Amino acid sequence: MLSTNMTTDPAADLPFYYGSISRSDAEEYLKLAGMADGLFLLRQCLRSLGGYVLSVVWNVEFHHYSVEKQLIGTYCIAGGKSHCGPAELCEFYSKDPDGLVCTLRKPCLRSPDVPIKAGVFDNLRENMLREYVRQAWNLEGEAMEQAVISQAPQLEKLIATTAHEKMTWYHGKIPRQEGERRLYSGAQPDGKFLIRDREESGTFALSLMYGKTAYHYQILHDKSGKYSMPEGTKFDTVWQLVEYLKMKPDGLVTVLREPCVNNTTKRNAPRCVNFRNVPCSTKVKPFLTVPLGGSKEVTASPPTERQMLPMDCNEFANPYHDPNDLKKFFINRDQLMIDEVELGSGNFGCVKKGVFKTQKGHTDVAIKVLKSENEKLVKEEMMREAEIMHQLSNPYIVRMLGLCEAESLMLVMEMAAAGPLNKFLSTKKDTVTMENIVGLMHQVSMGMKYLEEKNFVHRDLAARNVLLVNQQFAKISDFGLSKALGADDSYYKARTAGKWPLKWYAPECMNFHKFSSKSDVWSFGITMWEAFSYGGKPYKKMKGPEVISFIANGNRMECPPGCPDRMYALMKDCWTYKHEDRPGFVKVEERMRAFHYSISNKTLPEGTADIAEPLK
Ligand code: AMP
Repeated sequence: MLSTNMTTDPAADLPFYYGSISRSDAEEYLKLAGMADGLFLLRQCLRSLGGYVLSVVWNVEFHHYSVEKQLIGTYCIAGGKSHCGPAELCEFYSKDPDGLVCTLRKPCLRSPDVPIKAGVFDNLRENMLREYVRQAWNLEGEAMEQAVISQAPQLEKLIATTAHEKMTWYHGKIPRQEGERRLYSGAQPDGKFLIRDREESGTFALSLMYGKTAYHYQILHDKSGKYSMPEGTKFDTVWQLVEYLKMKPDGLVTVLREPCVNNTTKRNAPRCVNFRNVPCSTKVKPFLTVPLGGSKEVTASPPTERQMLPMDCNEFANPYHDPNDLKKFFINRDQLMIDEVELGSGNFGCVKKGVFKTQKGHTDVAIKVLKSENEKLVKEEMMREAEIMHQLSNPYIVRMLGLCEAESLMLVMEMAAAGPLNKFLSTKKDTVTMENIVGLMHQVSMGMKYLEEKNFVHRDLAARNVLLVNQQFAKISDFGLSKALGADDSYYKARTAGKWPLKWYAPECMNFHKFSSKSDVWSFGITMWEAFSYGGKPYKKMKGPEVISFIANGNRMECPPGCPDRMYALMKDCWTYKHEDRPGFVKVEERMRAFHYSISNKTLPEGTADIAEPLK
């Protein structure tokens, strides 16, 4: 299950970080702390998601610098150097002013009774993520959780644009007169406000009370999708604009104060999402239409405009109607069309492209065809692989659709059309970013965590056995060596050594033939190394036995060029000699996730104006 704060704020551990406080609150804290030159604190940026503001005292004056989160996941003050995190940025400016009024000299520490203030969106994020995934992709239960965990940063961007619908001040599509009626009912303090959909134009309007009079303002929505008051600061979302107008009037008669609460809608009830352009039977959603309030519609970016997410693919959801239905284990030959195209080959025979015909429609599949001359032993091996695969159902593991006994024994699997990870990376070096690789390896760690939980050991985890559905979606394959462990067993003991992938094996596998999830963790480290070296060959030209002594002497492979330090640190932990001291997949997935989230670009497109100062 998910932890409550999935999308960990990289500044959360900093003792001078206050979260989503206003500029004036920041100034109050700095005043209270004595206004020394170089006194500073960090707070959440209200304009861009994922950004911060650094507030600094100099010469009894306040200076506020906007820290932007850049597309590649680094942070910088406009005109300054990039840093990998907010902590690193602050450390840098504590040594070098580099354009700031002074160096950061003294952190304005948050007292223990002042918690980090959550932003409006922080409180809603978790529920909205789930609701969005449930409705946009029709996913439930474990599949939904998996989708949310692996894609949280991307999903956050999608939902941020509709978060205003959850706010008490949002009244949906009501006429101006009705807006006035609601403002005039009850107390009428200055600054009481609501946001409504304008009937005629499909834009938003702000209705605001001042001096017992209702004022109405149109909220502009420009071509690039930004919201603003006329001539005012532009924001990516309506709720960010509202938060800003609570602090600055930006041309209004007053700042926004008390929301006029919309009592007519139940904000916690699932929002009615009407996927008018999306047939319910398919998981491939070419277009997501999310109505706002009444009939007005805002389109969440369709896959053609945004990066394809795993959930956009048929291969994400569970294809089984009833996983316990054993009859489905076998597929009739007439349900299969086998192409001549070979996707790859192995010891047993080859893997061919094909089509699986069911009542639901035709699905592209990969078919592992046993060479007919292969003897009984290989056939049994393939049956064992099929039995293992049949018990597994996870988006990040290649699913078996069934076994077919005809001209030869055939294992029918879902198709992972972009092929093995190592080949993909070595041929597409220029188009695959580190962030992309981190995302894929996080998915592999999720698949492996699932295997560990189910008490299966893979025994052949390697980049060649991670297949890609597309550039953003990875699945673990090849369960030819895998074993289901007994309920009381923590490892599998092989009686004799076989044709083993020694370079991927942990010391206890080679020395004692002992295989466990912990030895899979070692292989995961090697797979990471392959991925971060874009399909490089581990241990170069060394032979298996040489690798054994290389490892036993305390050596490990070096960090691949350009590989992030935190990823290399995790690899080395996966290569902990003693399996008892090695992390399990729960820990590995947690670390992959934390890094994946921390570098994923959570910001919306760049704002055009700023509420804080850039570097002068
Ligand atoms: P294997 O022996 O299972 O590793 O399969 C040999 C090769 O066949 C792999 O390296 C892939 O190139 C290809 N292959 C296997 N399974 C699939 C699949 N489900 N989708 C696409 N290609 C596959």
